[in-house]
Amino acid sequence: MNQALTGLMDRMPVLEPGHVWLVGAGPGDPGYLSLFALAGLAQADVVVHDALVDQRVLDLARPEATRVFAGKRGGRPSVDQADVTAQLVALAREGRRVLRLKGGDPFVFGRGGEEALTLALYKVPFRVVPGATAGLAGLAAALIPATLRGINQAIVLATGHDAEGADGLDWAALARLGQPIVLYMGMANIERIAAELIAGGMAAETAAAVIASATLPGERVLVSTLGALPAAVRTARLSAPALVAIGEIVAIRGRLLELMPGIEGALHWPAART
Ligand code: SAH
Repeated sequence: MNQALTGLMDRMPVLEPGHVWLVGAGPGDPGYLSLFALAGLAQADVVVHDALVDQRVLDLARPEATRVFAGKRGGRPSVDQADVTAQLVALAREGRRVLRLKGGDPFVFGRGGEEALTLALYKVPFRVVPGATAGLAGLAAALIPATLRGINQAIVLATGHDAEGADGLDWAALARLGQPIVLYMGMANIERIAAELIAGGMAAETAAAVIASATLPGERVLVSTLGALPAAVRTARLSAPALVAIGEIVAIRGRLLELMPGIEGALHWPAART
């Protein structure tokens, strides 16, 4: 292996005792971890992770590291957010090297911002390591580009489910933008959101897709139209975690597959032994 590459691991930034790294693990497959995330896994005494972090990623932590599950599982009672942050503060104060590992990017619908604020309030030194957010990386891996020249000038990342269960988003206003929308946590409310977008003027024929377990071994992609999507989701029995992509950017996937059958198989790391 190239020397610069081996040298990288010898000169990784140090995760100090008493510090917290707030790290995004990417959309799912370990191949999307950043080198900073890998450095965190290689050094942490404690890994506090959410439900979206794949077991194969957790397996990369030091064998003696403590793994703490502090996740939310859609719909089910979840660990209290205040408890999680209190735990991060307590672990750091005990002088542990703490890796707070979240799916995707820690600052995108992941409560990372809130956790950073608490750490700062308690004067716990921390660093933020961005990750590839599922709403962009999961789409790209499923052959759906976030932007296409001549198709869209913006992309909306929205949550279909806010912490309080009600959403204050003006879906009709988003429909009027005429730009693609990517929904996180959108499955539970897909019926209502699709109806509100259509009522707001978005064509029912607009291409739409659901990507469940993006980049993971159980990945499933369902392509439909905005109008037909809710029923198609029910029939296909797709489950979380899943992204909903709405807009003409979705259509290019079909075109790519038509031109190059077989390119659908995303890369996985580690690859299966041959
Ligand atoms: N911080 C994360 C998002 C957390 S919110 C990020 O930046 O990606 C959780 C939502 O993210 C899920 O409900 C789902 O909509 C989406 N998500 C995360 N990982 C996913 C995956 N592998 N496949 C599909 N959706 C995913």
